[in-house]
Amino acid sequence: MLTHPQPGSPATAYIDLDAIAANVATLRSRAPSTAFMAVVKADAYGHGLLPVARAAQRGGANWLGTALLGEALELRADGITGRVMTWLHVPGTDYAPALAEEIDLGVSAAWDLQEVAAAARSTGHIARVHLKVDSGLGRGGAYAADFSALVADARRLQEQGSVRVVGVWSHFACADEPGHPSIQAQQDAFDAAVDEVQAAGCELEVRHLANSAATLTRPSAHYDLVRVGLAVYGLSPVPQLGQPAAYGLVPAMTLVARLALVKEVPAGQGVSYGHLYRTTEATRLGLVPIGYADGIPRHASAVGPLSVAGTRHTIAGRVCMDQVVVDLGPGSRAQAGDEVVLWGADPALGPTAQEWAVSTGTISYEIVTRLGPRVERVYRTQQTNQARQMRKEA
Ligand SMILES: *Cc1c(COP(=O)(O)O)cnc(C)c1O
Repeated sequence: MLTHPQPGSPATAYIDLDAIAANVATLRSRAPSTAFMAVVKADAYGHGLLPVARAAQRGGANWLGTALLGEALELRADGITGRVMTWLHVPGTDYAPALAEEIDLGVSAAWDLQEVAAAARSTGHIARVHLKVDSGLGRGGAYAADFSALVADARRLQEQGSVRVVGVWSHFACADEPGHPSIQAQQDAFDAAVDEVQAAGCELEVRHLANSAATLTRPSAHYDLVRVGLAVYGLSPVPQLGQPAAYGLVPAMTLVARLALVKEVPAGQGVSYGHLYRTTEATRLGLVPIGYADGIPRHASAVGPLSVAGTRHTIAGRVCMDQVVVDLGPGSRAQAGDEVVLWGADPALGPTAQEWAVSTGTISYEIVTRLGPRVERVYRTQQTNQARQMRKEA
């Protein structure tokens, strides 16, 4: 595991694993009698699957959740134990490794359940399944009559010994808008689905519905298990109500690039493709080696915020594939190699992922998750911080 940047690394995402662990502990204290699933899909929202999974477990997560089976198997391949659940499958998936690795499977359709059961019969395992009801999101999950048929199938397969129905679950459409009428309607539909499964004779281990927003704002939706993604990373799922600090959360990712070039240009110089920006005076331009290939939205052209030596700037002109330009101003003392903070934990030190989301018309989920593989991830814990401090003092 990397703990220091590669020499000459153009851009580095520092991931504070202690913040991840602390965020899980903080979130757990909001739902103390409820089990906690840290959702680590999509490379842990861009933060790095394996180190984040371990940090989340250290903070008290007793479940890990991934969208794709391949992500769940990666956890097991690295030796990560405990409950792991995955839920997004297509026909023809090979479930044998999932069953061998005791990975729980979310199931939304009859064909999926049949394939899981067939894999269980041929490998001699009992598949642990969570039946997903579409309680109103209109996305995954079985709808109404399809759900009743799924429950009947599951009951039959359970009696035959190939599957065990351990969970019923669903997902909210508008949990990030507390008070939205769909929230209560979905909860009512979810309760009815749970009753239906229990009436069919399934003894459930976990009923689960809440994402980050519902975990923070709707205790009545916590049930037996909450599935928390964004808040684990220290970002607010309800930024209109409160920034991370208001919930005791610390953003885990700080994205830093290093200036690749600083140069003087005269007034009237067009900057970057299309000359969207033009200097108004003789000034110094800084070249920041990160672009849309790395996940910086091209929509951030002329609006994306960044900070150089504590001073806020806005990207000058177009975001390119590998780089952006910043007008540092005529008096700037910045030099090639200086650090540029794109987003981080402390609003006093630089922009936040939420500010990026606002300035580019998206959500903080997308800002951190789309960060590409060319950006090196460097993991920090208190231990590495202490070691760095000791080296400094020595
Ligand atoms: C991604 C996801 C979550 C986590 O959502 P957050 O809003 O990030 O907390 C929970 N459940 C399911 C089914 C998901 O796909």
